[in-house]
Amino acid sequence: MNKEKMATHNLAVILKNQLNDDEFLLLKQTPPPKFGEDEYDSYVDSDLWDLPSTLINLQDNESQSGVFIKGAESLYGKIDSTKFDVELGLARALEQVGHKGSDVGEWSLFKYVEEAEFGPGNPVNTVFLIGKLLGGNQSSQGVCKWMSTESCLNLLLELKPCNGRLGPLVVVGLINDSLPSAARKLPPTLQLQEYPPGVILVPMRSRTVKPFHTTNLVIFAPENVSDTSGDCGFVAHGDALIVDPGCRREYHEELKEIVTCLPKKLIVFVTHHHPDHVEGLSIIQKCNPNATLLAHEHTMRRIGKGDWSLGYTSASGDEDIWVGGKRLTVIFAPGHTDGHLALLDVSTNSLIVGDHCVGHGSAALDVTSGGNMTDYFRTTYKFMELSPHALIPMHGRVNLWPKNMLCGYLKNRRSREATILNTIENGAETLFDIVSKVYSGVDQKFWISAASNVRLHVDHLAQQKKLPKNEKAVKSIIYVVNIV
Ligand SMILES: [Zn+2]
Repeated sequence: MNKEKMATHNLAVILKNQLNDDEFLLLKQTPPPKFGEDEYDSYVDSDLWDLPSTLINLQDNESQSGVFIKGAESLYGKIDSTKFDVELGLARALEQVGHKGSDVGEWSLFKYVEEAEFGPGNPVNTVFLIGKLLGGNQSSQGVCKWMSTESCLNLLLELKPCNGRLGPLVVVGLINDSLPSAARKLPPTLQLQEYPPGVILVPMRSRTVKPFHTTNLVIFAPENVSDTSGDCGFVAHGDALIVDPGCRREYHEELKEIVTCLPKKLIVFVTHHHPDHVEGLSIIQKCNPNATLLAHEHTMRRIGKGDWSLGYTSASGDEDIWVGGKRLTVIFAPGHTDGHLALLDVSTNSLIVGDHCVGHGSAALDVTSGGNMTDYFRTTYKFMELSPHALIPMHGRVNLWPKNMLCGYLKNRRSREATILNTIENGAETLFDIVSKVYSGVDQKFWISAASNVRLHVDHLAQQKKLPKNEKAVKSIIYVVNIV
């Protein structure tokens, strides 16, 4: 069997309350480990509540599981349910909330959700099982809470930092079904994810760099278009907005189908000019000449006329956009490039971060387009001050622990910078000296991109006046740095 094509499977449990049929049990999710340094540990993400869940392994032999799942036959052809150990999976998920298999009556298949191609690695497909707790609702104190769809909707509508957040399993599994969604108007074959509610992500094949293969097209198209905003200071108005149409030419037809399903008053927002973020622009202007482009002027300067020759609105940060009753705020976010912008969806407090972060691993800075480490650090702190509920990168999955992820970036870059400084202090005189020492364990074919990263760090060290006083050495490094 080709392992590459296999998916990882996740089992999510909807545990109904015997005394109140509207309620189900949510588990407080464990945050990623702390850093052990006050500088970073002082930034804390709010509580995240989601369905109990566990990854499950498919077995080579038929499972001897004695658990009967009503409706499991509908999984036939998608997943070989005889080979997955339901009993073990259920035991592990129930243990998280202080229960065991015998506490629950009959189990039924609620739904099966195949994950879109976010990468890296296999998609994670989720089997949602539903069952009712028999007798007593004594679940683990402090980490469990009974909620109904209605109380979840209230939590989503009343965004307060102390209120806690809802995770993607409960939203995709239960909540989205009771909300109007533009996703239902999109082509049914499209692989997408709607999380947070109203924020639709479609990973589309693009000319991006490994380990990713796709760029997330973000779509906002609120159902109840009631454009009563007038001209109250919004930089752009529309009935729908898409972010970063970066799919390769071979997927233009798919993008065209998406755009055709959206309202004509369309805003196209691009975070920056890299081809894997703008390659789809040309097909959009062909199939919807009413669309307007919103970008930073540095980004616009680098987008070819062949890609976009229609209307364009310049944004530089702090502007508001009005999309069918929804407010989004443009955030100036230089670092990756000098014209890089992020976008905050105010109603869900989720932040579309462009290439400032990627779903997995660290993001590279583009030294040829004004990428700058000082800006990168500043933007990272700016993002943390916004206390977003989720980070939406253009490559990879949504990140649910924004402050933790951003602090991880700061910590890694500072430690790389400390190593570079140490190398300089120990006599490295040229960029090559530094790269060959700092990246000695890394394949030489990565040294060119490493060199531009080192250059950005040396510039940043110089700006912080941290380079050693030995003028001759420093001059020579800065000279070499500037000609690379
Ligand atoms: Zn980029």
